[in-house]
Parts: sequence; structure tokens; C-alpha cells
Amino acid sequence: MAQNRTEMIIPCRDEGECVELVFDEISRVFSESLPDHPWSVLYVDDGSTDDTLPKIKALAEKHGEDKVRYISLARNFGKEAAVFAGLSNARGDYVCLMDADLQHPPALIPEMIQAVESGEYDCAAARRVSRRGEPFIRSALSKGFYGIINFATGIGLVPGMTDFRLMRREVAEAVTSLQERERFLKGIYSWVGFKTKWIEYENVERAAGSTKWSMGGLWSYAKSGYIAFATAPLRGVIYMGMVIVLISLIYGIYVYIQAKTGARVWTDTLTIILLLLFIGGTIITILGVIGEYLARVYMEVKNRPIYIAKEKNFGENS
Ligand code: UDP
Ligand code: MG
Repeated sequence: MAQNRTEMIIPCRDEGECVELVFDEISRVFSESLPDHPWSVLYVDDGSTDDTLPKIKALAEKHGEDKVRYISLARNFGKEAAVFAGLSNARGDYVCLMDADLQHPPALIPEMIQAVESGEYDCAAARRVSRRGEPFIRSALSKGFYGIINFATGIGLVPGMTDFRLMRREVAEAVTSLQERERFLKGIYSWVGFKTKWIEYENVERAAGSTKWSMGGLWSYAKSGYIAFATAPLRGVIYMGMVIVLISLIYGIYVYIQAKTGARVWTDTLTIILLLLFIGGTIITILGVIGEYLARVYMEVKNRPIYIAKEKNFGENS
């Protein structure tokens, strides 16, 4: 029986220092633990401005285009788009997503392959159990994010889940069959289903280079994940608006009765001003939420491609 083949997909943005490191590590793990398992790497250069692409090209030159494939995007489209580009161009029976910076320990690959090869699972994904080496505020925010998103959407994200994931080809095809532009992969994995084995590991620090995520970037990532999968914020704000309207009605009746019984003078300008501000604020909040959704709808209906490739070292059907 022919051996199943694994392709490692590695999105890279300014990872010049890591390109070779990660290849060597993967290579070492395969030759030590799975010497007969055929594998290759597909680098997705996500608009790097450093020497990432030349480094990848040199690697392809050295190991052959069968071992090292690459696709270079026309600009920086973001990690989710880079991963999409990788998944759409992947070949092989198993596809494995991995970061370039070795924060996803290649040592887990054999266990992942084993899980999927046994036929019991369709995916094997890594779960980070400790966030050592990460600022406290960041891990606290991340925890809060998972709590809220699971509560609001019910899609069931697993805390600490990473993008380090090996999947059968069918799963990769299911993931790329979702053509939405505002991509939140972690939610997409949960949405497409399939049986996943979770493999735990301790947090590892970056091998070289620096993180490509800023606090602002993480915030917009969390926000897009939330909005892509939840209609709850929209509903929540509408309920809030209804409650406030109800309160102001009750208050209105109360003041009216007071005025009628002579306990109070009706012309309470201050109350009216406060009420106006209050209701005005509510309306603006609601409009803001609707605007968020509208912006998404606008982006989706444009139906733009998720990425644009500039060059690659393989043909359409290889
Ligand atoms: N990455 C990418 N495009 C981007 C940002 C990041 O392809 O716009 C890649 C990056 O090169 C790395 C992976 O995504 O391989 C994870 O990025 P990073 O290590 O900066 O994120 P962190 O581990 O800090 O969450
Ligand atoms: Mg990293």
C-alpha cells in the first residue's frame, strides 16, 4: 500500500530567520520518527518585506521543488488569507498547518499523523496548556475572549486551541469550501465539524524574529471572530434598547402622575435633556452594531478573492 503523504503548510510574514530553522526541525522529526513517511513543505509568503522569499527559493533550490513548494502573495493579506492560500494549493493526503516561528513544536507531528492514520480521527490539533512567556494581560484577554465567544455563539471553541493542526484532505477541502472573506479559522474548524483529537503542549517562545500581532491586531481578530459567528451582539443590543425604552415609559408615567397630583412641577427640562441624551446614546450604539454587520455584508457581496498570488514554483494540478 502506498504511504500517505503529508504536506506542511507554513504561512510566513517576515520570517527570514525562521524559514530554514523550521524546515530543518520538521526534517529532523520526520527522519527520526517517521523515516518512511513522504512529506513536503508548502511555504506561503504573505507579502514579506524581508528576505523570506529569497530564503524559501534557496531552500527549494537545495531540496528540490517536490520537497519545498512555495506561493508568494501579492501583498500582506493576513494570516487567515495566507492559510487559505496554503490549504487551497495543498496536495497530499494529510495537510498540516504550522507557524514558521517554531512555537508549534514539530515534535507533535508524529502523534498527529498517528491519530489521523488510525482512522479514528479526521484532524489532530494542538492545544496550548500554559501560556508561559506571554504577558499576563494577553493571556487574560485571550481567556476572556474564549469565554465570551463560546457563551454568545455556542460554536464551542476550545481554550488554548492553536492553528497547529493536521487534517485529512477532506477536512481541508471543507474549510476552503467556505468562501467568506472575513475568515475566522478557529470558528470555521468548529463549524465544519469532523472528529478532532486534541494534543496538549506547553507554550514555547518564538525561535527568532518577533510577533506579527499587535494588541490592535489581536483586538480586531477577536472582534471579527465574534461578529462572524455571533448574531448575539445584535440581538443583545436590541433588547437593551427595548429595556431602556420601557424604563423611560414607566418613568414618564410616574412623572405624569406626580404632576397630576401636584407633587411636582411638570416642566422638568433637565429630565428631558438627560432622557434625550440617554436615548440618543442607545440609538447610536444600535446603529454602530448594525454598521458593523453592514460593513461585513458589504465586504462579502463584493466577492473579492481571498488572496492574490504573485508567483509560485508549481503548476495548477501538481
Ligand atoms: N503570519 C502571516 N501573515 C500575517 C501575520 C502572521 O502569515 O499577516 C504568520 C507568521 O509568519 C507566523 C504565523 O503567522 O508563521 C504566526 O504569527 P506570529 O508568530 O507573529 O503570531 P503569534 O505566535 O505571536 O500569535
Ligand atoms: Mg508565533
